Amino acid sequence: MASLINIAEEIRLAGRALGEFGAGLFNPTVRLGVTGLSGAGKTVFITALVHHLLHGGRLPVFEPLSSGRIARARLEPQPDDAVPRFDYETHVRALTEERRWPESTSRVSELRVAIDYQSARSGRDRTLTLDIVDYPGEWLLDLPLLATSYSQWSADTLRLSHSGPRALLASRWHKHLATLNAVGPENEQAALQAAQLFTEYLKACRDERYAMRLLPPGRFLMPGDLAGSPALTFAPLELSTPAPASAGSLHAMMERRYEAYKDVVVRPFYREHFARLDRQIVLVDALAAFNAGPDAVKDLEGALAAILGSFRTGRSTIASALFRPRIDRILFAATKADHLHHSNHDRLERFLARMTERAVERAKFSGASVDVVALAAVRATHEAMVARGRDKLAAITGTPLAGERLGSDSFDGETEIAAFPGDLPDDPAVLFKNFTGLTKADETDYRFLRFRPPRTEPGPAGAPTLPHIRLDRALQFLLGDRLA
Ligand code: GDP
Repeated sequence: MASLINIAEEIRLAGRALGEFGAGLFNPTVRLGVTGLSGAGKTVFITALVHHLLHGGRLPVFEPLSSGRIARARLEPQPDDAVPRFDYETHVRALTEERRWPESTSRVSELRVAIDYQSARSGRDRTLTLDIVDYPGEWLLDLPLLATSYSQWSADTLRLSHSGPRALLASRWHKHLATLNAVGPENEQAALQAAQLFTEYLKACRDERYAMRLLPPGRFLMPGDLAGSPALTFAPLELSTPAPASAGSLHAMMERRYEAYKDVVVRPFYREHFARLDRQIVLVDALAAFNAGPDAVKDLEGALAAILGSFRTGRSTIASALFRPRIDRILFAATKADHLHHSNHDRLERFLARMTERAVERAKFSGASVDVVALAAVRATHEAMVARGRDKLAAITGTPLAGERLGSDSFDGETEIAAFPGDLPDDPAVLFKNFTGLTKADETDYRFLRFRPPRTEPGPAGAPTLPHIRLDRALQFLLGDRLA
């Protein structure tokens, strides 16, 4: 990837990396990237993490906190002038006071937390500055485009669009594509229509019934302020000859815009955000993929491999050694584990571990250490054993969101119910092959229900406590050594 970014830019970045490195010696800073595709749970995760740091939540496995070495944590002014601040206060109010999930955002945002702690090694008092960078996973999946030419991208995207359930979803776009002549003259209307049909295909793939994840270019689904600009008005073309695009052709027009997309969208993200991260957590809504079936699971694995490919270090020149992504720990976290009974949390984790191993192989990834966890940043359910005839079944209880429906029942957002989420297979291999949905423990199938955030109790210091599952394990992996 480094080879595609011009030398001057590399040198500038290397200079900045050195500057940040120098500053880091006096004022240790960790830049933690939090990413995941839309709806994976980024906003909830960051809100819960910051709340626990500020108020000393119950996190037994997060050693610096549980051993009492963290004296206090406080929010500091956001350091990057051009990046919106993560709106922690509004989000935490929504969760704890209003018992509703916070609004998720579809752009990058940042929050700075200063953590005063006592070093376990020297016994000295120190401060670690934690910069949390929240960004859409869709942007991460764009990074491989930097190393891909337009003709290669066209061929890859078309091949993928003919596979599995995608073929049907792509049929309108394919039909239009067949009417286009790549070597013919450039044509704005043709480009517009191709981009529109291609975007509709991407949107259909993302629908929860298919839950496809590998859908670059990311801004086609989340255009923000670039909606309608030429950099977003292109699509793959059927290119029969490998010859370069001739001037004035539709091929040349599409190629120019594809390159503009990289310049306007992908490179700035790489430079300003991605290349500066030290640690990364990738949140994955694996349950959504299970609900959609093996094609979605396979697709998710492809997305993880693409993500790992982005973390791979570049050429081993001096410039790229300074410039390459400096991330040394990556955590893949399956979110919303509170939808499953605890006996299934290990299974969920094993599944993610298996998928990550395969993705590591596919992406030929080495470098940063990679770990997995199944977690719920905010636990919305409790566990209970419920009698069914002579059997006792493991159930989870929670309050479905107002308006959630099940058959003819509609929930009011106040009534608590017991749900039988079913079991994941013990052998994760089943999830990649013949998986037909969670094994149901009961006829009533509540697993698609979304629950309200939990009722919170005031903790020892007066602030409400937010229950979680394994959030402490995630923090220990991501930050434990930096607070040692
Ligand atoms: P983002 O788009 O990645 O920022 O996702 P959000 O953090 O906004 O989460 C999307 C939705 O997933 C929320 O509105 C909740 O309904 C659900 N969710 C996220 N985290 C959890 C969790 O820990 N437990 C439960 N039960 N639901 C969650």
